[in-house]
Order: sequence, then C-alpha cells, then structure tokens
Amino acid sequence: MIRCTSRLGSALIVVAAFFGVASAAVEPDELAAGVSLELAKARARNISRLSYELALSIPDALAQPVTGTNVLRFHLADPTRPLVIDFDAEGAAEAIVAANGVVVATRAVNGHLVIPAVSLRRGANTVRIDFRAGNAPLNRSADFLYTWFVPAQARRALPCFDQPDLKGRWTVTLEHPAQWQSVANGAELDRLRTGDRVRVRFGETQPLPTYVVAFVVGDMKVETATRAGRTMRMFHRESDAAKLASNRDALFDLHAKALEEVERYTGIPYPFGKFDFVLVPAFQPGAMEHAGNIAYKAESLLLDETATQDELLDRAHVIAHETVHMWFGNLVTMRWFNDVWTKEVFANFVADKVTETQFPQMRHDLKFFLGNHGSAYAVDRSAGANPIRQPLDNLSEAGTLYGPIIYSKSPVVMRQLEALLGEAAFREGVRTYLRRHAFGNATWDDLITALAGSTKLDLRQWSHMWIDEPGRPVIRTELDVEDGSVKRLALRQRDPLGRDRVWPQQLRVTLGCDGHAKRIVADLVSREVDLTRSLDGCVPDYVLAGGEGWGYGEFELDARSQSYLEGAIPGIDDPLARGVAWSALWDAMLGGRMTPDRWYEMALLTLRVERDVQLIENWLYDLNIVWWRFLTPAQRAERAPDLEALLRGRLDAATDPGLKSAWFGTLRSVAITPATVAWLQALWEREATMPGLPLVEADETALAHALAVRSVGGEQRILDTQRDRITNADRKARFEFVRGAASSDAAERERWFRALEDPAVRQRETWVLDGLRLLNHPLRAEQSTALIPKSLDMLLEVHRTGALFFDANWTRDTLRGHSSPRAAAAVSHFVDDLPADYPPRMRELILQSSDLLMRAARVHAPADEPGD
Ligand SMILES: [Zn+2]
Repeated sequence: MIRCTSRLGSALIVVAAFFGVASAAVEPDELAAGVSLELAKARARNISRLSYELALSIPDALAQPVTGTNVLRFHLADPTRPLVIDFDAEGAAEAIVAANGVVVATRAVNGHLVIPAVSLRRGANTVRIDFRAGNAPLNRSADFLYTWFVPAQARRALPCFDQPDLKGRWTVTLEHPAQWQSVANGAELDRLRTGDRVRVRFGETQPLPTYVVAFVVGDMKVETATRAGRTMRMFHRESDAAKLASNRDALFDLHAKALEEVERYTGIPYPFGKFDFVLVPAFQPGAMEHAGNIAYKAESLLLDETATQDELLDRAHVIAHETVHMWFGNLVTMRWFNDVWTKEVFANFVADKVTETQFPQMRHDLKFFLGNHGSAYAVDRSAGANPIRQPLDNLSEAGTLYGPIIYSKSPVVMRQLEALLGEAAFREGVRTYLRRHAFGNATWDDLITALAGSTKLDLRQWSHMWIDEPGRPVIRTELDVEDGSVKRLALRQRDPLGRDRVWPQQLRVTLGCDGHAKRIVADLVSREVDLTRSLDGCVPDYVLAGGEGWGYGEFELDARSQSYLEGAIPGIDDPLARGVAWSALWDAMLGGRMTPDRWYEMALLTLRVERDVQLIENWLYDLNIVWWRFLTPAQRAERAPDLEALLRGRLDAATDPGLKSAWFGTLRSVAITPATVAWLQALWEREATMPGLPLVEADETALAHALAVRSVGGEQRILDTQRDRITNADRKARFEFVRGAASSDAAERERWFRALEDPAVRQRETWVLDGLRLLNHPLRAEQSTALIPKSLDMLLEVHRTGALFFDANWTRDTLRGHSSPRAAAAVSHFVDDLPADYPPRMRELILQSSDLLMRAARVHAPADEPGD
C-alpha cells in the first residue's frame, strides 16, 4: 500500500545524506530513458542472487489504481555506486523506497529510481518499494487485467531491473475481488478470502527474466485436465459453451504433445513446474511465452468448426512455438534483446519438428516453404530490409527488432545450418548450449561456440553473411539450349545492392526432364556454379533453382523456364515444386519481368485445377493482392464475372469445410458484381445458405463489413443487426469500436481516424487495426489517401505508447489497401522529408510496409510520368 503521509518526512531526513556522501556517480548514459545497454551492463556486473516479492492489490473499479509493494533482494558486488531501479510509471516519483530497512530519498529520473550508495552495502541488500502501478502494460478493462511485459514493459507497471540478464525468482501475491480468478507464473499456494476480496499467494518461481513475468486477473473460467501425469489449467472468457467444448480437449492434447516432443528433442524435462495457459480475447500478439503461464490470443486457439487445415496447423504450431520457448528463451535467455532472434528461431524451428509428428498427413516441407519464404522475402526485397541480428542500444527500441526477418528468415537460415552440420550433431550442439546456460543467459556466439564443437566449418564467416547482412542474393538461372541440346546450365548470384556480397548456400535444384522431375544438389558458395555436367542428357523444360524450397534468394528464371511455367504449373507432380514455381513467378511479377495481367492469367489457370489445400490457401492470398492492388478497376470489372464463377464453382465443389471456407473467404473479399454481392447479402440476411459451410459469428461479422464497404445501401441496419447478433460482450464492444471506420460517410470515417490521436482511444490495439483495415479498404482507398501522411506522422507516437508490433501493424494496415501513384507519392514525400534524427528502424519499417504499394503504383503510373 502507498503510505503517502509518511513519505515527505522521512525523505527530508535523508536528503542531506544523499548529497553529502561522495560516491561513484552513475554515468549519464545509464540514466537515459528506457534501459540503455550501459545501464544493463553496469547492473549485470554488480547485481546477483536476485529475487522479488511482489504484492499487488487490484480494485474492482477500473478508475481505482492498482497498488502494491515490491521487495527486491539481491547481492551487490560494488556498493559504492548509486543503484538504478527501473520504474517508468506516472506515480513513480511518489513511490516510497526503503533500502535495508531505512526509508531513503530517491531521485526519479527518466523512468528510473536512483538509490544513493550510502543506503547500500556489499553483499545482501533488500529494497522495499511501495508504489502505485502504471496502467499501460496491465491492459485493464472493467473485469479483466492481463500483463504483457515484453520486451521491457514491466518497468512501466512496477519497479524492477527490467533487463533479460538479471533473472530473478518471483514470489507473487495478488489481492482482488473474490469472484475473480487469477493466475501467475508460480503455482497457486493458497487463497484467503476476506469479505468480498481474496488474497491469492503464488509459489516462488525459477529465475525468470522480467519479460516473461506475467499475471492475469479477472472474470475468467478455469478448465483443468491431466495429460501424461501433468495437470494443466486453461483460463478463458469464452461464453460460447459449444465452441469451448469443441476445442477444449484439443488444446490440452496439443500442449501435452508439444511438451513431450520438446523434452525429447532437448533431453531436458520441462523446467518450470506447473503449466497453465490463458486465452486472452483480442490479445495483441498471437501468443506470449510467459513461463508456466502462456498467454494466447483466444481467437486463434478457439477455432470454429469450419477451420481450415492451415488454421488447425497454425494453432498447433503456435502452441508448439510457445512451449518450445520454455526452454529456448525462458530456461536459456538471450543476454540482450539484440539476440532475441535466437529464441524465436528455435521456437519456430523446433515447433516445425513437433507439428510434423502431429500432422503426419501434411507436407511439412511445403508448409515450411509457404510459411517462411514468402513473408521473409516480402521484407528482404524491400528497400527497408534489415539483417537478422541488429545492434540495440536501448531496450526502448527492442520492439523494432521483431518482424518477418527474425520469425521467417532465421528458420530458413537455421535449416541450412542444420544441413551443414548434420541433424544429430546440430541437436547435440543445441543440447550442450541449453545445459551449459540453463537458468542463465547466452548469446548467439555462445551457440556458435557450442555448435562449432561438432564441425570443422568456419561458422563465423557463414554467420556473417546470413545473420549480420540484410537482403537476399539474386540467383539467376543461365540456360542455353541450342538445337535441342543444352550448351550450358549455370546458376549465378549477384548482390542486388551492388556490394559484391556472396551468400554461401546449398541449393536443391529441380528440373523438368521429359515429364519427370530431376534433382541436383548444388553448393553455391561462390558467384557461380556450373551444372551443365550434372544434366545427364536432360534438356529441361524448366529449371527451378529454389526447388524443394531449400534455397533463399530471388530466383530469376531463364526465359525458357518462365514461359514454360506460366502455363504448366498444374502439370508438375510435386506440390512443393509447384509452390516454388509460383513463388518464382510472383517475384518475376513484382520485379517487372512479368505483367500483373499475365500473372493473373497464370494464377487463374492454376487455381482452376489445384488440389493441394496448402497451396490453394496461400495462392488465394496472393491472388487477392494482385486483384486489389495490381489490376486496374477496368481490368477488375472485366474479369470479375469469370473470377467469381471460378471461386463459386470451387466453393460448391469442395467437400472439406476448411477448403470451402478458404474459397468463400476469397470470394467475399474480391466480389464486386451486383449478383455476387446480392448473394453475399442474402447469406448475411440468413435468406440463403451454403451447403456444407454454416456461417459462424465471425463470418457474419466479416460479411457485414464487406457489405458496408461495398455501400450496398442500408448499412446502418446491417451494422445494427450485426451488433445485436453478437452476444459475447468483448466481441460486441470490438464491433462497436470499429463501426465508425465502416461507415459509408467519409467524414465519419475521418472522425473515427482522428480520434486515434488520443492514446487512450488506441489502447485496444487489435480493434484499432480492424478499423484501419476498413478505413483503408481498396474500395475506400481513394478517400483515405489524404489520411496517409497523418497516419505515418503518428507512427513515432504509436511506437512510443503502443505495445510490441503495434507500430508495424499500424503502418501495414494503413497502407495495405492502397496502390495508387498518389498514395505512393504521399509515402515517398513523407520518407524524403524525414528529419535526420528520425529513428532509422522506423524509416525501415515504412519502407518495408510500403513495398507492395510502390510496386503497384509503378504499374499504375501513367506511362509518360515515371512513378517514384
Ligand atoms: Zn516466440
């Protein structure tokens, strides 16, 4: 509790002591806002044996502050320097600090509390802080609170040492309304009820970095299940009993299976005792690996019966990913967030191995290719490409490190590394790394050291190109066929930035030889590799250097292969080779070596007959982009009847509900003919049905929005009715929030957008993004173009006040509906006019998010005016 009355008196007594004692000063860099690298290094040298005893009182009224006490116990090596504790909350200056039993005057500087050295001693110290918690990372609503502290947000709620290499044991007590539930990292010890309040004590945790410390409190239900002798609990707020029942067992099974597989891979038992997970409605990220207490976005775990195969696999994958983090990230933690990618790459890499055993019927090599290459390429082909490992001076910028490069490029790179070392040696190195650094911290170099024990290769040089350099090589196929025989086949790489960089990698080249696929393994370790002698008489119809989804780069097809593949993808037997061929043509279209119109014809021809579910689901996504962004309105109007007929036909013919759902989702998204729009409206009015695909609430909500942006008339009634159809309070509030962005009145949409200038309005970030997508829908892009500069202008503020990923999502959803030269010019002008001190990573973010816009605008630019 905060004892405001006593503070002033005791503070005055010790102020003199503070200024009177000569002691080593804190370097100014250590007191910079955020958590600077200097501060982190100085503290890591000085502090050890850290533990926290946190007690928080959570009132039932949202207007009341959360108050509490945190007792920090630690050893100091050097007590002659003032101690810097992170606490960046509004009430920080009023916190009462007692060091070793004596209340001391502390300075509140830039989100830190500075404790004078005179109050400290060598060896064991105890600092008790009574405080009012900051609200920002507590995500409070009337009957619910959940924390999300990554990367360094704990300090914005409570006083602590908010850096990953000061791991502490946490003992947490939460006091809250008795009818609420609560969950924390430690096992629940007891509940003591007093009147309408309850005090819940949680047991001491293993050493944890602050970013995986978490608690959730509020109106929740709890499901319990036991699998393989382990009792797990699931906390949730789902009101739809049938939806819960149809997902419940699968969620426990998936976690149990993931735990078992990761224990097997690492050879280390689950390190954190109890195991719970929480389904948070509209959670900002997909999930967060809070130790023993994983948080998930409820919507991505509680699937509808129409869930596509991709959604089922994605769900298994996200569960495996978070479970893997218990070892990679939580047991062994990066020393600093510049190595955050090391935990993410393993989470994805090992999760792939886990889901392979869970979905044996699926093509996982294809899943890997589709899940990683496309999103990594989207960044690496842009002018804002970043390397996997980036320097980081301050944790306040740690959020800018996250993105497709660490999530999607690094697994590709890690697979190459595994291939270089061999699977068994690689796993042995990884196990050594985990054992060596268990409950501690490590760097990428520590991992390379552990792996280097099992190879003679120069891993450091390899690491430099793939880990420290941005971008991707252009790998061109040079195929020279004369008089029916091959004179020469070679692969040649070049650096698209003209810096003569050479990326060493292994390629698995697929060639079409007389209707059969032939594979050549090629080590492209210099600029060129000649494959002429590996052909064995084959005169290939096509050469796919990225065949088998193994390599990484822009694979520039030779003319013979490109013209063959434009009409022949359906004739290729292997779905992975079809996927790789599609990807090469996608790059060709984006690179200007194929017109969007021609690409579209290829896509329709291919989609008409494709049977592979994964390919269909991924290709429909690309089709959507070309439809809205690369074709002109006139081209769309001309092609719509044919496209809609194709989609409707395949929807009707599909037997798998997931596949049906994929075809339907695309049809809903692209529909523009009056007949199809009327049919969509009939579905929404519940006057028509689709055999085999019952519409669920999420479908009807999406339909209501699709009808609204198409200005079908009567939008007010549609939106009112849809709101009344939604029974879950969280989802109803979300629908109401975005309503202004769905309005047919451009002025009202603009008012909705302008309201976002108030950070309080931006608090429900997923809701904001829903609205931004509607606001910037292609059919409304013309009116919203004028808002692009303002939206980009707000980016720094959004970055500063928002949670992780919000800045990137904000930019993406602002720009994703746009394709006009006018929109591209707005972004270009904004970037050109940026001040010299604009954060480079935020500039990169804008360049990454606007890549498709720029390419589309070049296509749409009048021929006599070069686009920017
Ligand atoms: Zn992760």
